Amino acid sequence: MSKLSLDRILQSQGFGTRKYCRTLIEDGEVAVNGVVQDNYKTVVDTESLVLTVFDEEWRYREHVYIALYKPANFECSRKPSHHPGVLTLLPEQFTWREVQPVGRLDHDTTGLLLMSDDGPFIHAQSSPKRHVPKVYQATTAEPVTEALVAQLLGGVQLHDEPAPLAALVCEKKGEHQLEIVLEQGKYHQVKRMLAAAGNHCSALHRSAIGGLQLDSLGLQEGEWCYLDEAQLALLA
Ligand code: URA
Repeated sequence: MSKLSLDRILQSQGFGTRKYCRTLIEDGEVAVNGVVQDNYKTVVDTESLVLTVFDEEWRYREHVYIALYKPANFECSRKPSHHPGVLTLLPEQFTWREVQPVGRLDHDTTGLLLMSDDGPFIHAQSSPKRHVPKVYQATTAEPVTEALVAQLLGGVQLHDEPAPLAALVCEKKGEHQLEIVLEQGKYHQVKRMLAAAGNHCSALHRSAIGGLQLDSLGLQEGEWCYLDEAQLALLA
């Protein structure tokens, strides 16, 4: 529980600069637990706080933990160059809060992407020491053979890696479909492993991170949701 002035709270939630937040409050655009409050110096308890800003309700959150169903043709990079950034799929407040993707998906990869403004959480999740399995569905240009599956399970050498990388699980799901589970998160790892094994990845989708399944979230492509503690625990 903490108590802060209303302008600070509004700023912390990503509604803009302190100056702009003060203007919003003075203009009567902000309600605290349903009651309009036009004095920005008012000290407010953040516990169970609901803010209404321009008639929209926002629960106070010290940090946000978000799952996005990433569509193709969006970039995870901070400074996207060829496609819009994934942040454009979220409300503007999240840009002000400096929400970032946790790890990356390629611009043409679809599926589960975590995002947060909690630095230590992002760092811990992205650490190479973490071995949280990530589940991918790959579409291959060439047919999936027993030999390909065996190669991916046995380990393939990528040119900038000291040792071969192996899939934790690899299953043929169709003539050109493969489910592959990786516990590392190397750059373009699925695509490079498939290329090193003599095939080509023509489409890629991430369906789960640890025990968190994209399907369980009920999102359509481009949609996002907050993750609660039970869902975050599935990432451990
Ligand atoms: N592996 C890839 O090759 N691309 C991704 O986006 C994720 C994993």
